[in-house]
Amino acid sequence: MGGKVVQCKKCARLFQSLSSSPYCPYCVEELEKNFDMVKNYIYDHPHANVMEISTETSVPEKDVFYFLKEGRLSISENNGMLRCENCGCSIATGRFCEACQKQLERELSASVSEAIEKVKPPSGQKGKRQGALGRMHIDIRNR
Ligand SMILES: [Zn+2]
Ligand SMILES: [Zn+2]
Repeated sequence: MGGKVVQCKKCARLFQSLSSSPYCPYCVEELEKNFDMVKNYIYDHPHANVMEISTETSVPEKDVFYFLKEGRLSISENNGMLRCENCGCSIATGRFCEACQKQLERELSASVSEAIEKVKPPSGQKGKRQGALGRMHIDIRNR
């Protein structure tokens, strides 16, 4: 199989993607180095904000945000630099606050199981297929 060729989001280099990472192996290595620097800086300066971290470590701000969004780093909540993408409240790490995260997970798992139900051919209904040709039937069920 092998991975598909994708363009690195950082350096625009084309590479074979074997993971879900949007970055090529070179940039991943670079990011790992940056991650260590940022992590060490936060360790020494737990109340630093993203701008300060970026200036002091010379790691680009967007990389710092990337680590935060990945949930690999957390900074002091009081900074208010990171906000829940859903409700806008201040969060320390990730993309959503705990409440929204839970809500999203519930919605996600619901839509995944619905998708599986749609893909799965209905058992014992082979003959009915033809009549439905050319017609779209969407079955919305309340759970
Ligand atoms: Zn790259
Ligand atoms: Zn939220």
